Amino acid sequence: MRRKLMVGNWKMNGNRAVNAQLLTELSAAPWCNADVAVCVPFPYLAEVALLLQASRIQWGAQDCSAHESGAYTGEVSAAMLVEFGCHHVIVGHSERRAYHAESDQLVADKAKTALAHKLTPIVCVGETLAERDSGQTDVVVKRQLSAVIHTLGHCISQIVVAYEPVWAIGTGKTASPEQAQAVHSLLRAQLRAATQKADEVTILYGGSVTADNAAQLFSQPDIDGGLIGRASLNAADYALICKAAD
Ligand code: PEP
Repeated sequence: MRRKLMVGNWKMNGNRAVNAQLLTELSAAPWCNADVAVCVPFPYLAEVALLLQASRIQWGAQDCSAHESGAYTGEVSAAMLVEFGCHHVIVGHSERRAYHAESDQLVADKAKTALAHKLTPIVCVGETLAERDSGQTDVVVKRQLSAVIHTLGHCISQIVVAYEPVWAIGTGKTASPEQAQAVHSLLRAQLRAATQKADEVTILYGGSVTADNAAQLFSQPDIDGGLIGRASLNAADYALICKAAD
């Protein structure tokens, strides 16, 4: 039985005062059965770790380097994230694939480095609107996951996958529960061909999840929770979304 997981992706939002208020409110929200995490900008990790030290809410980052250490200006290593108490790290978010030209292989290498440091990589996959409209959704998400499967081998069962259709991220357009379930089921089948533990892998949905559409999405058999952007910046909204998975 997979536990539900909710991960808030703050992206490049927040400031110290706003973060403290958000996490104080979220920590005080009525509890839910899902595991809950927030992935925050690097500079806030130390403070978020302090704010959440007595809370069940976990924290993580939004990217990490594929390299261990060295002359990689501007990058942050997986070891550094572990030092600040991170449990998770998002890799291959579509914004990084699009704006930083991250390849499938680089994303896979980042996932491998994260796992080597016992950080759980949340590997994002998803198609653009043009790719969906031209019937390429399955090919695209399978190609993206395939690079990770080949790079991680039997460790693939230790990752979290996030299906995030690019056309649904930050747009207010959500995949229907049926559309999302179809892709999740495809990804699960691909994982089954790679590992006997495919049924243990958490597959999240992300893309304009709100308190109104969350329950239907999370009731689908292969949707194990959400990667939540905008709505995770509001404690009341995020708490309602987390509760919708109960
Ligand atoms: C995201 O960026 O991972 C995301 C899902 O954003 P939003 O919920 O705002 O669509």
